[in-house]
Amino acid sequence: MKIMSVNAGSSSLKFSLFEMSTETLIASGYFERVGMEGSFYTIKYNGEKIKEEVETENHTKAVEVMLDRLVSLNIIESLDEIDGVGHRVVHGADKYSKSVIITDKVMEDIRSYVELAPLHNPANILGIEAVKNALPNIPMVAVFDTAFHQTLSKKEYIYPVPYEWYTKHGVRKYGFHGASHCYVSKKITEVLGRNDLRVIVCHLGSGASISAIKEGKCIDTSMGFTPLAGIMMGTRSGDIDPSIITYIMEKEGMSAIEVMNDLNKKSGLLALSGVSNDCRDIEEAERSGNERAKLALDKFVDTVVNYVSQYYVKLGGLDCLCFTAGIGENGPDIREKICHKLECLGIHMDVSKNNFRGELREISKDGEDIKIYVVPTNEELMIAQDTKELIG
Ligand code: ADP
Repeated sequence: MKIMSVNAGSSSLKFSLFEMSTETLIASGYFERVGMEGSFYTIKYNGEKIKEEVETENHTKAVEVMLDRLVSLNIIESLDEIDGVGHRVVHGADKYSKSVIITDKVMEDIRSYVELAPLHNPANILGIEAVKNALPNIPMVAVFDTAFHQTLSKKEYIYPVPYEWYTKHGVRKYGFHGASHCYVSKKITEVLGRNDLRVIVCHLGSGASISAIKEGKCIDTSMGFTPLAGIMMGTRSGDIDPSIITYIMEKEGMSAIEVMNDLNKKSGLLALSGVSNDCRDIEEAERSGNERAKLALDKFVDTVVNYVSQYYVKLGGLDCLCFTAGIGENGPDIREKICHKLECLGIHMDVSKNNFRGELREISKDGEDIKIYVVPTNEELMIAQDTKELIG
């Protein structure tokens, strides 16, 4: 059975094609600058990377090119080989606690959540429509970023703000990166062979979030009503005092939208370091003595440690701390700094095991009660697994 997972962004489209009998990746691709000048794609297949500039004026065209190349590059013989397509959808509000087969009603719901995720759901809709257009008879599944966090109790998801904001406008914590947190939680359950685990997953990428998971169920997560909340990120501030927004609006004569844009795109590691939003650049700057780069990394580590310690208490202890995503998988120095600060909680890293990137490995000291693991995430496979299960 071959399943494709699709992740459509506002000007991009990523796909991964899996053979599900062995859960192996057959090919993956990335269309960039969709709807813009200079659009191109890269497809990885058979150890090769194929890059081509091709005009993709919209997502429909990108999907057409993608399907055409799958056949013309002999990745598959015919489109009939694709049994199902799973789509990443950022917002499923409080209705979707699991992935679902996409029907007209589901599409209507996803459209109605555009208000909640104006930057993401419209692009996800374009991706779904484009695939439906090209492959009208193939079953499709929506995998929501918010779904895994629907197990949060009301006490965890409610904000202490006027209650009508919640009842009238859906203002509550939703949480994001659900496919990744769910994948890592399932993987570590499998690796440790126990269902009763208390796990904290640190998904540290350009977007970053932390989840507390008990017996496979998420009990709290650091992102909130939007993906702006929680720990500091590449360009997002994470939690700040909300009064800063109106203060800066007045001081700088900015609109609310402009300030929000700064908090989403000009804050976080980028703002504090003044160097880059990319951890590798900042680490290099820190090594050459750049004080602000050091400040940015120290602050990042601090915000992670704050959430981990909070969740340690919430979980009533901890069995496993997991690192995943770009920085979590590939940043041994940051992992070490975080774990070093957590030693007082009995979280002990074996530094000699930590110097590697991108592999599933234990990095805690031998015989420790609290295990520390690096678990490479695979949101695409998670999407394909859910799709396979739902389409039977
Ligand atoms: P997203 O999927 O949210 O775009 P990623 O999970 O790809 O983000 O993570 C991007 C981050 O991972 C960047 O800050 C980047 O610097 C970091 N990263 C990737 N590779 C490395 C590496 N080898 N060393 C340190 N950081 C890395």
